[in-house]
Amino acid sequence: MSYGNRYKFYQSKAWQDTRRTIWLRQNLLCNRCKRPVYVNGISEYLPKEKRLVGIVHHKEYLNENNISNQYVTLGVDNLEGLCIDCHNKEHDQQTGVLRNNYMFDEEGNLVQKREGYSSH
Ligand SMILES: [Zn+2]
Ligand SMILES: [Zn+2]
Repeated sequence: MSYGNRYKFYQSKAWQDTRRTIWLRQNLLCNRCKRPVYVNGISEYLPKEKRLVGIVHHKEYLNENNISNQYVTLGVDNLEGLCIDCHNKEHDQQTGVLRNNYMFDEEGNLVQKREGYSSH
C-alpha cells in the first residue's frame, strides 16, 4: 500500500473511533504482555516517557486488496492493541522487515518508511 493511502486511512475518523474502542476495551494494556501503554489522544494525561507506546495491530495485514474492506480495516476481530515491543516482535516474525524501516506517524501508529511493503 502506498504511504498516501495508509496515511489517509489512519487519519480517518472511523479509524480513530475504532482505535479508541480497542484501547478502552483493553484498559490501555497490551493484549499480549499486559503492560500499560501510552496511546496518543487517549492517555495524554500521562507522561509519554513512562509508558510503552501502544499500537493497534491488524491481524490480517493491510494491503492494496483489503484496504477498502471494513471488516478487515475496522473489524474489532481483526484488531488488537499491542505495545511497541510486542508489535515489533510480531512484524519481525511475520515479515522479517528490519525495525529501522519503521517510523511513527502523527497518531503514534507504527508505519514503514518506504513504500512497497504491506502495512500493519
Ligand atoms: Zn506487549
Ligand atoms: Zn501491526
